[in-house]
Amino acid sequence: MERDCIFCQIIRGERGAEFIYQDETLVVFEDAYPQAPIHLLIVPRKHVRSTNDLTEEDRPVVSEMIYRAKEVARQVGVAASGYKLVFNVERGAGQVIFHLHLHLVGGWSGNRHAPTAT
Ligand SMILES: [Zn+2]
Repeated sequence: MERDCIFCQIIRGERGAEFIYQDETLVVFEDAYPQAPIHLLIVPRKHVRSTNDLTEEDRPVVSEMIYRAKEVARQVGVAASGYKLVFNVERGAGQVIFHLHLHLVGGWSGNRHAPTAT
């Protein structure tokens, strides 16, 4: 847990964010700056700075994140129409919050899809 981390604050309930899903490992909530009609963040409760900082013991957490993304995609109705799962790693790739998170983006109409999520 890091005191100044926005996602840790959200997880501790110190900032308003409605969890679409939560369990002992992770939480899911809407991105504050959506880049698509559906733009959710799958965020582990454990503070991990970025994909680069994952350790051996974090492997089950990453697995849970991807599995939960699949479940939530179905829940919000984009499983069939399609969605992207994106990890932005470090500033050069658009990572803004340095607490590991997986973007789930989708919900575009027709077959159009956004190039890349941020
Ligand atoms: Zn954090």
